[in-house]
Order: sequence, then structure tokens, then C-alpha cells
Amino acid sequence: MKANRVVYAEAGKDFVDFLFYWFSFPLATVVGLLSKENIWSGSLTILYKSIENLTESSFQPNRIKDILLKPWVPQPYFPAAPLLPDGFEPPERTFYTCASSCLSLCRQEVADYRGALCSICGRAMMGTLKYVEPPEVARGFVSELDTYTVTDKLVVERQSSTNSGAAVLGELQVEERVVQLGYPEAIKVLKAALGSRMVLTNAFLRESF
Ligand SMILES: [Zn+2]
Repeated sequence: MKANRVVYAEAGKDFVDFLFYWFSFPLATVVGLLSKENIWSGSLTILYKSIENLTESSFQPNRIKDILLKPWVPQPYFPAAPLLPDGFEPPERTFYTCASSCLSLCRQEVADYRGALCSICGRAMMGTLKYVEPPEVARGFVSELDTYTVTDKLVVERQSSTNSGAAVLGELQVEERVVQLGYPEAIKVLKAALGSRMVLTNAFLRESF
């Protein structure tokens, strides 16, 4: 029987970092990506579009709609999200402080909501502070010194003599293929991982799944 499946992938740091990065996505980011591409029919995409379609006046002031659709998550390990399209960068982050200069204690308070009331002097906190990203010490999650084995159902292991190609494949008839992972492939991998255990097969070998 011709199985026509991906057995496993040998991957470097970039692909493994991309897979692990999903766990830092807020749900809205995942649903936003899938609904932007129109490739997922779950009702969460309908809920997402409902929020998009509601006018600003339906929401409380202070960008509640944006906070829902583009939630901000601190991510010191990736200044820019890997393999995501434009529009999914975290928004510029602003904090607010009391602009009153009469009390130095006021300067010790910070809010992420413009107009929050200073608990020292009671005035609205309207002075702005800019969020500074942490320095980029080491990008991503896993070591770039290793190669990784990623199976079809996404078992990720560091490659070793026991899970190297020869050990995994045994007598299987296989074809080796090199694939480049760009955004179109990345979004297919994400979609496949949400709905199947043949992730690499569905993402790379099936036209539609
Ligand atoms: Zn104050």
C-alpha cells in the first residue's frame, strides 16, 4: 500500500522555535491568523469577525477592541514573531504616569490605562512612558547547536543515534525532500496541528485537508 506520508523532518532551530512559539500566542492571534487566510472554518473565526465588525462605539473607551483582537504578550525571546505576516507584530506599548510635578511619590506609579487615577494626588495619569524591549541576548528557545527530529504528529526530539534517519526509517521506502518554510507553509502547519495528528503530511503533501 502506498502510504504517501511524511515520516519525520530533520529540522534546525528555526523550525523548532516556530513550533514552540505557538504556546506564547494568545488565542486571538491564532484565530486572527487563520481567519485572515480563510482556511479554518471553526466558529472561533466567526466570533473573531463579529468583534471586528462591531463599531468602536459598542466598546468601552481605551481601545478595548484592539486589546481583544491584538492582545499584547511580552515576548523577550523574539523581538519579531517568526513567520508571521505584517499586522501581527505586538503593538507599540505605552504606559502612563502621573504628570503632576508637585509630588515626587506620584512618579512611582505607572498604569497601562490612559486616564487611570493617581492614588497619591488623585489626578488622571496622562504622562506617557514608552515600553523598552529587553535586550536580545539569545534569540528563540532551543539551541542552534543541535539538529532536531520532528515526527508527523509533532514529537520533537533532539537528534541522536537512536532517532536518526537510519534508526527511524528502518526498511521503509522513503524519498527525501528539502522544504523551505515560509509563511504559506507555516500557516498550513499551524492549521494542521489544530485539527490532526498527521501535521507534516497534511501541511506539505496534501493540497487541501
Ligand atoms: Zn499623582
